[in-house]
Amino acid sequence: MKEKITIVGAGLVGSLWALMLGKLGYEVEVFERRPDMRKAGFVGGRSINLALSERGWKALRLAGVEQLLREDAIAMRGRMMHDLKGQLTFQPYGLEGQAIYSVSRGGLNLKLIEAADALENVRFYFNHKCRRVNFASGSKDANGTKPKAQFVTLDGKYIERESDLLFGTDGAFSAVRYSMQRKPRFNYCQEYLEHGYKELSIPPAEDGSHLIEKNALHIWPRKRFMLIALPNADGSFTVTLFLPFEGEHSFERLQTPGAVQAFFEQWFPDAVPLMPDLQKDFFENPTGTLATIRCRPWQQGGNTLLMGDAAHAIVPFYGQGMNAGFEDCSLLWEMLQQGKDWKEIIAAFSDTRPDDADAIADLALRNFIEMRDLVADPRFLLRKKLEKELHKKYPGRFMPVYSMVSFSHEPYSKALQEQALQDALFERILAQPDPEAVLDDEAFLWG
Ligand SMILES: Cc1cc2nc3c(=O)[nH]c(=O)nc-3n(C[C@H](O)[C@H](O)[C@H](O)COP(=O)(O)OP(=O)(O)OC[C@H]3O[C@@H](n4cnc5c(N)ncnc54)[C@H](O)[C@@H]3O)c2cc1C
Repeated sequence: MKEKITIVGAGLVGSLWALMLGKLGYEVEVFERRPDMRKAGFVGGRSINLALSERGWKALRLAGVEQLLREDAIAMRGRMMHDLKGQLTFQPYGLEGQAIYSVSRGGLNLKLIEAADALENVRFYFNHKCRRVNFASGSKDANGTKPKAQFVTLDGKYIERESDLLFGTDGAFSAVRYSMQRKPRFNYCQEYLEHGYKELSIPPAEDGSHLIEKNALHIWPRKRFMLIALPNADGSFTVTLFLPFEGEHSFERLQTPGAVQAFFEQWFPDAVPLMPDLQKDFFENPTGTLATIRCRPWQQGGNTLLMGDAAHAIVPFYGQGMNAGFEDCSLLWEMLQQGKDWKEIIAAFSDTRPDDADAIADLALRNFIEMRDLVADPRFLLRKKLEKELHKKYPGRFMPVYSMVSFSHEPYSKALQEQALQDALFERILAQPDPEAVLDDEAFLWG
């Protein structure tokens, strides 16, 4: 008989994982703290988007919902940099035809919940908050003691659920992980960035079109801070300001409408006329924090496993948090297809996958510096151009790290190793009087 499965958290990863397990015929129960978004709408009702790239698409393909989600996805073919004078520079992300995609977070979550809930063997329980998981009090089978999760409902009722397998997909502040943290030898590290973020918006033009280039991720890089904008299907853009909490240019200095207006006019003059709701958005929307969370092991007792942000929350600057969580689902799915048993799969995943999660956490921290600072640096722009030429000339030998992360399925840890090698290679290339000329010199490049 197939295992009975509990999933805690119906966010992006939990709802996709429920859909995949449901399609494989498991009895799945999903418990979510928030109300059902099909009735309550998205949080705040605002249009918040995410960049979806190849790793995420692959998982959606395996779950059979890729085409459904392609409908509203907007291709972003590169970065559009806005300088202080409002001049634009476009830098493609990859080769011809390659793009990352802007998708609505709420829309994606909703479609995944709908698809999973349409399966007879998947049941959702909303307004059920997990309080803890007890790993010792459940009944025993050949594999050990079954996990028992405790939930509290909106009206204060407590319920308990024992299952053969439990997946913690309850996000960065996971209750499942918290229960695991109390176990001996559990390692945990949480590191906040000194920057916070604030979501703002650019509305659509009167005719519903986009006011700035639709097929790009817009960046206003200002060294210590930056503004970015991703397109939405309704013609609007979700804009995010990343800024230190304290210091010369910081949230603590932006306490009045006058200070906010002056700051935006000084640093983002071409964006100001596009944001009629700047003051309202700025003072009504919360200031978010950003943290990297690493922990090990991700499993307990061979039958409880953390996935997604619950296991590996990262800063958003590579646009990979959700993609990495979706890749967790693909990797587990593939191991199941190979006929492995759950105990073996959970042990193998918990042993090897954290190295990849650590690697993308490091790459994402590094990419913050690239986005806010280097994208405005001529030497860096030359490197990007040369990377692309090298990739075209030697496709079997060289792939830029950005492409490896966003357009391939190579392990993140391989991309991190490659980063160090490519940094050294470009140190040598850019030290040449004519860097472009050495691209034909194979002995120089690879010798
Ligand atoms: C500003 C910002 C921009 C980002 N941009 C991108 C991007 O462009 N691309 C990308 O790939 N990633 C991006 N990310 C990261 C992405 O949002 C996360 O990696 C992704 O949401 C993780 O999905 P998850 O399902 O693991 O966790 P979540 O999406 O956090 O879902 C967790 C779910 O569990 C529920 N829950 C929590 N606690 C409990 C409990 N005790 N009991 C029951 N349910 C509970 C929550 O209500 C929620 O529904 C961004 C993140 C931020 C902050």
